Amino acid sequence: MKKKSNEQIVDLKTQPIPEGHHLLEVDNLKMYFHTEDGVVHAVDGVSYTLDRGETLGVVGESGSGKSVTAKTLMGLIPMPPGKIEGGDALYRGQSLLSMSEEQMQSVRGNDIAMIFQDPMTSLNPVYKIGRQVGEGLRLHRGYTKEQAEQRAIELLDLVGIPEPEKRVKEYPHQFSGGMRQRVMIAMALACDPDILIADEPTTALDVTIQAQILEVMQEMQQKNGNAIIMITHDLGVVADMADKIMVMYAGRPVEFGTADEIFYNPRHPYTWGLIRSIPEQAIDEKQPLTPIPGNPPSLVNLPKGCPFAPRCVYAKPICHEQCPEHHTTETGHYSACHFADDLEFLKNAPDTSRSRKNNVAAVEEMNMVGGEE
Ligand code: SF4
Repeated sequence: MKKKSNEQIVDLKTQPIPEGHHLLEVDNLKMYFHTEDGVVHAVDGVSYTLDRGETLGVVGESGSGKSVTAKTLMGLIPMPPGKIEGGDALYRGQSLLSMSEEQMQSVRGNDIAMIFQDPMTSLNPVYKIGRQVGEGLRLHRGYTKEQAEQRAIELLDLVGIPEPEKRVKEYPHQFSGGMRQRVMIAMALACDPDILIADEPTTALDVTIQAQILEVMQEMQQKNGNAIIMITHDLGVVADMADKIMVMYAGRPVEFGTADEIFYNPRHPYTWGLIRSIPEQAIDEKQPLTPIPGNPPSLVNLPKGCPFAPRCVYAKPICHEQCPEHHTTETGHYSACHFADDLEFLKNAPDTSRSRKNNVAAVEEMNMVGGEE
């Protein structure tokens, strides 16, 4: 329920994190869409915590609920048709879901900023780059036009855009795809957000630019200590930068753990499939790519039992009857698979032990060949 709008707007980033809380706590979040075709279970029971300086990778195919989860935190889902059906999301101990729109406007861009997938649809074609990068500073920090432009020049320089003094006066169409993506990062970093959410920030870019963009984000994190949520369909993108990873399927988290747990000891067949889909040929041409067969299920009519069962080569009769609970280890590594604790089952799983090493090596190789655009 929304609060009344005459409250005093607080810059939450300046508030201490209450004892016993994390920077961000998402607890059993459920966001459904009520459509003419039925109820779309877009986000169905997502939970995780995030602290300053940490990077969370959120991985899954299109339609797995990754982006909707992030947009729900940012208050960017139109309601209706969206509806929060349960759970909560606390930022510095305060519920994002029950904040007034005025308070959320202060949070968006200032405390939690998002880099969207497609910079061309997120940048306004009729405004100069400098104005767009400095907009958040004028809105949240009270910068004058001149101060905002000066800071925009510094931010463009920071993300590696050459001749930033000249570039701030240009329009989005005068920038290449990689440059526009860097502009989006500059915009997102303008107010030094506590949490940077990057939604497939490198999908449309070639591997050299991808590596450079990821490097810029990591440098910013080392300097400012902000937390990053990296949303991607490609587990390889987060191999070298995530501290922990949540794998999503059909709106649900199916596996969660540290990056080492996910890459070296995956406990869910869908995660095995994602790992085997990582393009490892960059360093080993003999390793074939193994796509996951089939398509994700309709989120309106989820199959009975495990949602992954129709595509899972390990499925047994119980999988088509009962939806698996989370099986959680002492370290908090969980898997929503009936056989997650079955050592015999895991023993016969595909060999994934080399994947992270290979992928980290491939990313490093990309970084080494990465030059200026
Ligand atoms: Fe596959 Fe069954 Fe595990 Fe689902 S519960 S991932 S169908 S083995």
